[in-house]
Amino acid sequence: MISFSLAGKTALVTGANTGIGQAIAVALGGAGAHVIAAGRSSCAETVAQIASAEAAQMDFADPHAAADLLGSRQVDILVNNAGIIRRADSVDFTEADWDDVIDVNLKALFFTCQAFGKAVLARGGTGKIVNIASLLSFQGGIRVPSYTASKHGVAGLTKLLANEWAVHGINVNAIAPGYIATNNTDALRADPDRNKAILDRIPAGRWGSADDIAGAAVFLASDAAQYVHGAVLNVDGGWLAR
Ligand code: NAP
Repeated sequence: MISFSLAGKTALVTGANTGIGQAIAVALGGAGAHVIAAGRSSCAETVAQIASAEAAQMDFADPHAAADLLGSRQVDILVNNAGIIRRADSVDFTEADWDDVIDVNLKALFFTCQAFGKAVLARGGTGKIVNIASLLSFQGGIRVPSYTASKHGVAGLTKLLANEWAVHGINVNAIAPGYIATNNTDALRADPDRNKAILDRIPAGRWGSADDIAGAAVFLASDAAQYVHGAVLNVDGGWLAR
C-alpha cells in the first residue's frame, strides 16, 4: 500500500470547509499529506480533524485567489473542489447566475490549475491535480444551465491539461461524483418527487456520502495513479451504468 501513501506531500484542497471538499481534505490528511484547507468560509473544523493542516482564506470568485500561495509554496497535490450551483428554468436564467457559476466552477479552476502547473514546471517537479467534475459533465441535467456548461468544461479542461502536462510528470484527472448528500443537493432532497426519482435510478439504492468520494481522491493524488492521465472517474453508485 506504500504507493497510496501521501507522506511528505502537501495538498491544497479548495472549498474544504464542508461537504466533499472537507471529506477529501480529511482523507488526504489521513493518508499522510500536509493539507492546506482553502475556502471563503472558515476551514477550522476541517483543520481540527487532520494531524498536519492549516487553513487558507480564499474566495474563488477571484480566479487568481490561489496564485500567490501556489507561487510561493511547494504544493504537490491540488484538489479543485470549490463549486456552486444555481437553479432556474432556462428561459428565466439570469446573466448573474451564469457568470457566478462559470467564474467559480470553470474560470477559477482553470487559473488555479495554471498557477499550480507553472509552479511545478518551474521547479522541475511532479504533481497531481484532481478536479471535481459531475454527472453533468456527461449528462444535460435540468434547470442548471451554467452548472452543466461549467462541469462539461471541467471534464474537457482535465483532458486538455493532461495532454499538455502528462509528459512533464503532472497527472491531471477528475472525479465525477454522483448524487451526494451535501449542501449542494439540499434542494433536491427536500423535493419528495425529485428525491424519489433520483433514488429510483441509483443502482446502489442510496444517496452517496461525501466520504464515498474520498478514496478515489486519495488514489488519484497518489503514486498508485502515476499512469492515470485525463481520466474522469465516476463515483456515482452506478448512476451512469444505468
Ligand atoms: P457544498 O457542500 O455546497 O460545498 C461547496 C464548497 O465550495 C464549499 O466549501 C463552498 O464554500 C465552496 N465554494 C463555493 N464558492 C466558493 C468561492 N467563491 N470561494 C471559495 N469556496 C467556494 O457542496 P459539495 O457537494 O460538497 O460540492 C463540492 C464539489 O462537488 C462542487 O464542485 C460540486 O459541484 C461537486 N459535486 C457535488 C455533487 C453532489 O451531489 N453534492 C455532485 C457532483 C459534483 P462555502 O461553504 O463558503 O459556500
